[in-house]
Amino acid sequence: CTPGGPKVREEKILVTVRVRPLSPKEQASYDLIAWDCTDEHTIVSRNLSHERPTGPYTFDKVFDPICSTQKVYEDGARDVALSALNGINATIFAYGQTSSGKTFTMRGITENAAKDIYEHIKQTPKRYFVLKLSALEIYNETVVDLLNRESGSLRLLDDPEKGTIVEKLTEEVVKDSQHLRHLIGVCEAHRKVGETALNDKSSRSHQIVRLTIESSLQENSGCLRSFLASLNFVDLAGSERASQTNADGIKLKEGSHINRSLLTLTTVIRKLSGGKRNGHIPYRDSKLTRILQPSLGGNARTAIICTMSPALSHVEQSRNTLSFATSAK
Ligand code: ADP
Ligand code: MG
Repeated sequence: CTPGGPKVREEKILVTVRVRPLSPKEQASYDLIAWDCTDEHTIVSRNLSHERPTGPYTFDKVFDPICSTQKVYEDGARDVALSALNGINATIFAYGQTSSGKTFTMRGITENAAKDIYEHIKQTPKRYFVLKLSALEIYNETVVDLLNRESGSLRLLDDPEKGTIVEKLTEEVVKDSQHLRHLIGVCEAHRKVGETALNDKSSRSHQIVRLTIESSLQENSGCLRSFLASLNFVDLAGSERASQTNADGIKLKEGSHINRSLLTLTTVIRKLSGGKRNGHIPYRDSKLTRILQPSLGGNARTAIICTMSPALSHVEQSRNTLSFATSAK
């Protein structure tokens, strides 16, 4: 069988923006809509008298408030997700301020991807697939297993062959699409633990749901070809955590830790999209980037869905999000 040396893909990061509808709270306070999606690639701020207009910003896709999550999946994540079936590591992120729609979007993306993957498996009966799921949360630079919270804080180890591994992380063999839905439900329930005591925990924590896809195929020549890749669904901490403001007292410690994973990720993404392939990429500076390293850059494929509120009251944060999205293109 042809060994085929490592191919370096020059694919850029797929960057899309999703604007959610005004929330009931925003509507109740007569908030104004501050943005127009002028076509399917472009977003521009409205010319509201007291605001300087910004944009137009252009991306691979801009999804307006009436776009379905199915459409967001098809145009913003599908190709990246399915590449994992062919042995290419892939990561799909949701990036944006708290309450901009990251969790809403990632939940739908994961569901759509799972459906699509099982559809493809059904259509490829000659190939034998094994899917495994693991999930973790990074809060305050502490890694917790979302399939088994009892195991406490998990250590990262450097394996000479596999790279960074999360010690004792549960990996469940997924039996079928229904089982996959069940496991994702377990992760979601476990992620909610502790949220009432720490009411902005979800805005500070990162969640990674990782699907490992292994398959083997008997080729006509008699060769056995095998494929192995991981597909990561990442719901990031609120992007307002990437700004250094409002960090004081006890919050400083937590804030700086959150900043570390989020800031390191934004630096890594900027460097990867900047095309300076020989420059140092600081994967090792945070837990999030260490864990995701094999699925970021190199041969891996990446999609970033940036979520934002349409409201004038959030215009500053939305600008920050669009400026990050621009630097990731
Ligand atoms: P985040 O995870 O970024 O903090 P959420 O995903 O929890 O934000 O979204 C905040 C609220 O807005 C939730 O009630 C969610 O259901 C709603 N929401 C987010 N995006 C959309 C959307 N595209 N369409 C309808 N409702 C949405
Ligand atoms: Mg969320």
